[in-house]
Amino acid sequence: MTTADLAPIGFQATPEGMTPCAVCGIPTTGPTTDYPVFSRVVATAAGERADTMPKGASVALPTCSDCRDIEASAAAIVAAHPGLRRALGSVAAWQTTTALYGLSALGQPLPGQDIAPARLRDLVHRLAAPGAVVAYSRRFSPVWLADSATKLAARTPWSAVELDALAECRAAAVEWLADARPARPLAHPNGEHCAWCGTATAMGRRTSEAWIGKLCATCADVQSGGGTSDDALWQAVDPDRAIRRRMPRRPRIDGATPWRQRRGGNGAPWSHLGGVEALRRDVARLVGVTL
Ligand SMILES: [Zn+2]
Ligand SMILES: [Zn+2]
Repeated sequence: MTTADLAPIGFQATPEGMTPCAVCGIPTTGPTTDYPVFSRVVATAAGERADTMPKGASVALPTCSDCRDIEASAAAIVAAHPGLRRALGSVAAWQTTTALYGLSALGQPLPGQDIAPARLRDLVHRLAAPGAVVAYSRRFSPVWLADSATKLAARTPWSAVELDALAECRAAAVEWLADARPARPLAHPNGEHCAWCGTATAMGRRTSEAWIGKLCATCADVQSGGGTSDDALWQAVDPDRAIRRRMPRRPRIDGATPWRQRRGGNGAPWSHLGGVEALRRDVARLVGVTL
């Protein structure tokens, strides 16, 4: 049996003369970067102990050519998006790089410089943090984890990434991909209607966006601004304020009850009260406004 056979799943013994890539972990050679090590976790009979390292302690790791390409892509993207640098400041380059690490660890294609600014902002927002954790250097810096040694390297790129770290990247990437989908009508997760307007579907890219508790996103928006179901109804009936602008006081709409108090309708917003169009005409006539 060779040493390699004893390496944990996803690892291999680092071949003589090579060192693990700081990013994907495969054995490589080339110029190294020093990663600071502040403490070292040591396994003891009682559990684990963290020993403080001498000031200036570090581990020297190279970066393989594929991972240098990832870093170059990130640098090019940041250079092409001055808005990101303005928004994030000096961490823009690093956060873009780690977001690409996250995508790369998942085997996802990396975006080019032509990525839309909003997509880039979302990508960095969602993947920079989980992506930072997948780098092999994290086994040593800033804390040298128990059982970590540079004599072990990843068997294939990213094969040494912990499963939970990979799962966090995957969850973030799923959200990022969902962000790009167009909004579509979505049913309430429990098949309910909106408690206020009675709509059976709400627009969104994911259910959690379309529905907030028992309210559709439109009504929930009114509620989060301190509004009532009556305010939500007025917003639906008079979205441009054409009626309310011409009135000193907002009139009461007779029988205007939220759906939960008078169920009915066909699943369209406010259809239990006759529908938005009919309500708009009725209210305009009531207050003598010609639309
Ligand atoms: Zn690498
Ligand atoms: Zn609603």
